[in-house]
Amino acid sequence: MNKTKIGWIGLGNMGTPMSEQLIKAGYPLQVYNRSKEKESALKAMGAGIASSPAELIQSSDIVILMVSDDQAVREIFNAESGLLSVKTAGKIIINMSTVSPGVSKEMAALSAEFGHHYIDAPVSGSVKQAQEGQLVIMAGGSESTFLKAKPVLEVLGKMAMLVGGTGAGNSTKLAINSLLALYAQGLAETVIFANQQGIKTENLLTLIGQAALGNVFTKIKGDAILNDQYNAAFALKHIVKDLNLAKNEGLSSPLATTALETFQQAEPSYGEEDIIAVIKQLNS
Ligand code: NAP
Repeated sequence: MNKTKIGWIGLGNMGTPMSEQLIKAGYPLQVYNRSKEKESALKAMGAGIASSPAELIQSSDIVILMVSDDQAVREIFNAESGLLSVKTAGKIIINMSTVSPGVSKEMAALSAEFGHHYIDAPVSGSVKQAQEGQLVIMAGGSESTFLKAKPVLEVLGKMAMLVGGTGAGNSTKLAINSLLALYAQGLAETVIFANQQGIKTENLLTLIGQAALGNVFTKIKGDAILNDQYNAAFALKHIVKDLNLAKNEGLSSPLATTALETFQQAEPSYGEEDIIAVIKQLNS
């Protein structure tokens, strides 16, 4: 049994399989989720349950956050029973959520005031990669904190790279997710165009899969289109969040601007479905 005690906050589509990897790797794990019913799967695997972020941080060496957005992060740090509501120091706080570089800088400064060490470490990859410990992790913060966190990050991902100071992981993630948005919209538009030309989706996807454009994303999302299966692995509402975050950081290129418009139009109907449900919006 590994001795580093880990506290996990956020048991959504990603947080659940990621935290399960830590249990499988032998880390003592305690979890907290705002909606308590999502904690039962982890409890069944042997995780402890904390009643609040405050309780969680007191009994952990490392606290990991995997939650939706900037607002969720601020609440988890600053709420009445949040991470910073208790007198304890010297913890490592790893924020793996896709959030703004600004919120990371804010939380890193607050963490330092309390004697904690913060790194941002968002991930590329989705539920399948999370289940297999094959995420790609990009981190921002001090090298010494990164090196202490690295053994844990390497359970969750196939690689973890320090890309700069606080917020640099978030900036990198926003850049990668703008490409993700373009791929998703591009794949959807390509399928629709081919269908209009009388080409079967299955044949088109088989050919793309064998060509230079074939990749894991095309395979997984192509299968989703073929099976008319749009349950969220990566909810469409999250790409709207990410494109807005990238826009706030200055991304105003022609493709990114168009993608933001498209996904914003899709969000009211398909926000809770997977990103590739954008095909339904483009088809309507
Ligand atoms: P999700 O399934 O929507 O889960 C979101 C989690 O955040 C839930 O545990 C939710 O708690 C919690 N949360 C939201 N607002 C909160 C608040 N105000 N206070 C406390 N907890 C709050 O999201 P996900 O797909 O796991 O994604 C998590 C993060 O990873 C996001 O930033 C996303 O952009 C990023 N990401 C996702 C993927 C993917 O493929 N899904 C891939 C890479 C990165 P409740 O259960 O109470 O709602």
